[in-house]
Amino acid sequence: MFEQTLASLKTRHLYRTLRGVSSSQDSVITIHGQVYRNFGSNNYLGLANHPEVKAAAAEAVMAYGVGAGASRLITGTMTLHEQCEAALAAFTGTKAALLFGAGYLANVGLIPALIGPDGVVFADRYNHASLVDGCRLSRAAFKVYRHKDLEQLGRLLERTAPGTPKLIVTDAVFSMDGDLAPLPGLLALARRYDALLLVDDAHGTGVIGPRGRGSPEHFGLPHNDRLIHMGTLSKALGGLGAFVAGSSSLIAYLQNRCRSFLFTTAPPPAMAAAAIAALSIIDREPERRAALWRHRDRCALALRQFGFDLMASETPILPIRIGDPAAAVAVAESLLARGFLVPAIRPPTVPSGTDRLRLSLMATHTDEDISALIEACRQAGRIHGLIPS
Ligand SMILES: *Cc1c(COP(=O)(O)O)cnc(C)c1O
Repeated sequence: MFEQTLASLKTRHLYRTLRGVSSSQDSVITIHGQVYRNFGSNNYLGLANHPEVKAAAAEAVMAYGVGAGASRLITGTMTLHEQCEAALAAFTGTKAALLFGAGYLANVGLIPALIGPDGVVFADRYNHASLVDGCRLSRAAFKVYRHKDLEQLGRLLERTAPGTPKLIVTDAVFSMDGDLAPLPGLLALARRYDALLLVDDAHGTGVIGPRGRGSPEHFGLPHNDRLIHMGTLSKALGGLGAFVAGSSSLIAYLQNRCRSFLFTTAPPPAMAAAAIAALSIIDREPERRAALWRHRDRCALALRQFGFDLMASETPILPIRIGDPAAAVAVAESLLARGFLVPAIRPPTVPSGTDRLRLSLMATHTDEDISALIEACRQAGRIHGLIPS
């Protein structure tokens, strides 16, 4: 039974395998003794292996040990969790925040806590899998709207009986396309139809907004009771975990009602310590974010000039549309042979026919890394007929 599925995945060029990285996570990584420039990481600011973040985690391990020993509501809440939540509330400009073990866990718990079988959830077609799974677990009626289509969403909301609980769910930065959700328009619809709006800012935290505070800051949206801001500690913050930020009553409600918060062991204290250190670096070193965006703009401009289809990207996530799984893997292999790790993304992660490479940039790439990447993409793109030679 397993063999049949695996064989079918292989014939359709959808089979996937793991690659073990034997170095630390940096802009350059080692796989099977080979060194590659890493263009496949969400470690946008290079904080996963930053000396200060590592020291904070190591000191927390020595002071408090490795595990939290229990769930948060039993005896697992440690001072570092509370300090981390206070730091996240200050960072996002909210009253309170709540930590989760991972972004995936946050989403599969949050959505069922916010809406139930008597409600309707409205979801962008390109939402992350964790949001989709959260919607399924909620058992609310599930309405999918076309990517960023506010008009269609408005019609779906209009047709929902008044008084029905409603929740709109969206990635803030779409993780495979690198474009931004129209948050002001979504919030206006949420107000008009008395819905809640859950914003998953996994790729926005630390990256978007003048001070890296995330997508609400980017759009100048003041925090309010309708907007529920979720973000992760696992991408730009370089660690593991996630948070929800909002009013004190939202956080107290989730502490009582969110199953993926309640029924799991509290995150290791070192994880909270690492996130506190990462937030402090993000505040003190805006030049990291500036370098990330400088690389992003340079890369996007050059690749678009060559004729690559970067889709609607407007962030450091740069998809290169290819349209076929075998071709996407072949181009990725070509780049790998040139020393560049750029993942090929295929269904079910993206819709069939939109197979792509997905470049993600880091603040700690050098200008020379970026020049080399641009040249390697040009060569690989010509060989594979993606751009004119
Ligand atoms: C990565 C990601 C998640 C999951 O976060 P983890 O911390 O890796 O579990 C959730 N939502 C989006 C949009 C993501 O890109």
